[in-house]
Amino acid sequence: MERCYNFSAGPSMLPLAVLLKAQEEFINYNGCGMSVAEMSHRSKTYEHIIHTAESDLRDLMNIPDNYTVLFLQGGASTQFAMVPLNLTKHKHADYVNTGQWSKKAIQEAQKYTNVNVVASSEDAMFNYIPKLESSMFNPEADYAYLTVNNTIYGTHIPNDAIPDTKDVPLVADMSSNILGEKYDITKFGIVFAGAQKNLGSAGVTIVIIRNDLLDNNLDFTPTMLQYSVHQKNDSMYNTPPTYAIYLTGLVFKWAKELGGVDVLEQINKDKASILYDFLDKSSLFTGTVNKNDRSLMNIPFILPNDELNKKFIEQATQQGFVNLKGHRTIGGMRASIYNAMPIEGVKKLVEFMQKFESQEAKYV
Ligand SMILES: *Cc1c(COP(=O)(O)O)cnc(C)c1O
Repeated sequence: MERCYNFSAGPSMLPLAVLLKAQEEFINYNGCGMSVAEMSHRSKTYEHIIHTAESDLRDLMNIPDNYTVLFLQGGASTQFAMVPLNLTKHKHADYVNTGQWSKKAIQEAQKYTNVNVVASSEDAMFNYIPKLESSMFNPEADYAYLTVNNTIYGTHIPNDAIPDTKDVPLVADMSSNILGEKYDITKFGIVFAGAQKNLGSAGVTIVIIRNDLLDNNLDFTPTMLQYSVHQKNDSMYNTPPTYAIYLTGLVFKWAKELGGVDVLEQINKDKASILYDFLDKSSLFTGTVNKNDRSLMNIPFILPNDELNKKFIEQATQQGFVNLKGHRTIGGMRASIYNAMPIEGVKKLVEFMQKFESQEAKYV
């Protein structure tokens, strides 16, 4: 079977060049006689793999020396607990609620601290980003928290709109747009991202943390959930997800060879505007998100009724455009077009949507 265009929200498609490289190296990595999947994480060969991955990520995101990069397990969801378990001092934290992932983070934090929701877009099914200003944040809070790209609802907060929380460390869930658009890392105290959207396969979570925030865990914070433990052990306190880290390393190399995040962001803008322009012109398809807040990565859209949604998804799947079904909580469609989705994938999807529209227009 030919490879399809996979619009999955995550785990999602990987660059073909990365898969081919992994395939080439799978049985015998670099002539060392074994696969990366079989290798001791304490070996020199593996140390080189993880260190190279870290330095490539530092280059790509321009991460300054006073930040530590960690490769952890447990997914982005574990960070929902790890953040309060490591940053809580005075038991006040400010959260911005822009979707289901923010809500889950809020619910988890409420176990350990007093959460103040400073802004929310829940009143409109999270189809916009609420206005965020410095003055909304409590200067006494232990930290402030937001989700920069809302995978399910298709909104994002671009770098320029990240609020200045002054001395309060800002924590960002960047799971679904890390390396997809440029962010100034110094605006944040902690950035985290599960790998399975834009960075690689599931199993590794990247945490980028300012060094002054490493050592503040609560007394009862489990050892495995202490940032400082992982920092002191170079992400090797226990066995790290070795193969998943190796794959993210290949993705970092691929991203660097393409020209880095600036280039990727431009490609992503081009890709997204092909689809948004079509949605804006279409008489049948409708984008569901407030125009100013549209994500570059996840694009939800609907047809006039559920029957048509279903028909579209079925026909699209037959044509090799797969995983376009919207999240189970909102229905409709969603095209996730992360870094690995080539521009032809989006162009061909839009051609197919145009065809579907002209075929259906006579019935509506
Ligand atoms: C997918 C996703 C998560 C959850 O990630 P897991 O690795 O499955 O825990 C959290 N936040 C955002 C923004 C996501 O897109």
